[in-house]
Amino acid sequence: MPVEGEPVSEAADAIELVLRSPRVVTPQGERPADVAVAGGRIAAVLPYGTEPPPGARLVDLGTDALLPGLVDTHVHVNDPGRSEWEGFETATRAAAAGGVTTLIDMPLNSIPPTTTTAHLEVKRAAARGRIHTDVGFWGGAVPGNAKDLRPLHEAGVFGFKCFLLPSGVEEFPQLGPFELEEAMRGIARFDGLLIVHAEDSRLIEGAPQPSGPAYAGFLASRPRAAENAAVEALIALARRLDCRVHVLHLSSAEALPLIAAARRDGVRLTAETCPHYLTLTAEEVPDGATQFKCCPPIREAGNQEALWQGLLDGTLDCVVSDHSPSTVDLKHFDTGDFGAAWGGISSLQLGLPAIWTEARRRGATLVDVVRWMARGPARLAGLTTKGAVAPGHDADFAVLAPDESFTVDPAALHHRNQVTAYAGRTLQGVVRSTWLRGERIAEHGTPTDPSGRLITRENA
Ligand SMILES: [Zn+2]
Repeated sequence: MPVEGEPVSEAADAIELVLRSPRVVTPQGERPADVAVAGGRIAAVLPYGTEPPPGARLVDLGTDALLPGLVDTHVHVNDPGRSEWEGFETATRAAAAGGVTTLIDMPLNSIPPTTTTAHLEVKRAAARGRIHTDVGFWGGAVPGNAKDLRPLHEAGVFGFKCFLLPSGVEEFPQLGPFELEEAMRGIARFDGLLIVHAEDSRLIEGAPQPSGPAYAGFLASRPRAAENAAVEALIALARRLDCRVHVLHLSSAEALPLIAAARRDGVRLTAETCPHYLTLTAEEVPDGATQFKCCPPIREAGNQEALWQGLLDGTLDCVVSDHSPSTVDLKHFDTGDFGAAWGGISSLQLGLPAIWTEARRRGATLVDVVRWMARGPARLAGLTTKGAVAPGHDADFAVLAPDESFTVDPAALHHRNQVTAYAGRTLQGVVRSTWLRGERIAEHGTPTDPSGRLITRENA
């Protein structure tokens, strides 16, 4: 086992790079340190100012902080098939510019969806040679593909996403109650992971239908009760079938006590939320502003306060983007109709400063932000060499100027479609550079050549 402060023995004489910062964010806390890199991995975390070994390149980061590269386990790349919405090249350029070094692609909105091993190969072929960050894949659990889950697991997907209500695209249908249980039994057999869009279909059907430009109408169409009921039902199933379950994009803070209680009982349950639920509120969404539409929705300020509490007390494990763009026309800005507009918020390039801005206002630290946006997601995906500045981990870094601020200019985003709910906001924290396996993949918001790799679940 590599020991912090001690060089990894076989790599000790091959240190090629040393990054020096007064604020290195390690799992043990933030401190001044020199981080030595050998063979694309972190060889040692040494005292600040250590004389670099002969031949090693020293990069002094001045006052900037050195964080592990972020791991974003919730990204809709939509490629191939809807690559006009996003694509592997544009998504990973945006990720690199935003300090993200690993992303895991959701199985839907691309055509084909990632529901068979043949489809997985199509997706890998579309990504190969075009990615600026490491990229892995979630599989999908849909009606009729129960027999495909184990082969997908063995082919290296990180887990399986399912919906309990219509997903928004016809080629990725929801699971009914019987199919959900069948999928969970199958996944439990190989100790896989089910990740779930948790909104109850009957409660959504019974809610007022969204239409027109009033945000209040849209909010009423996706009540908290639908999330709470779905989470409660999932907990019961996870408990009975002993299947690992992860709740995606939690918006209703009322579900937090259910999640915390289940975990205390030993149910293998994790949960994430997203930057938009933690930084934007229903009260400030202008009518017709469909760039704020997502499902579940951005809720009221009081709900947001409770979500932050759930994050700070550890009930929520990660903060990931749920980057889910579309073309501009599908947002229907001409009518501002929340019923007709595509639901999905683009924030892949902005998650770190968005969260840091709010976190620091609340007295949280970079150590917290790293736990939510790097270490937590890496743990969810079982990536043991990602998400931490620690010996033996990949030399993936985000260099952040934590005290600088900038105003979000959509034209500076590398997303294929530059629609964003954050336009015009002033955010704290400028990503200065991003590193993957000891190589710079972006500097001052500009990505270099694509050098990312396709990754698979460990032990696949
Ligand atoms: Zn999503």
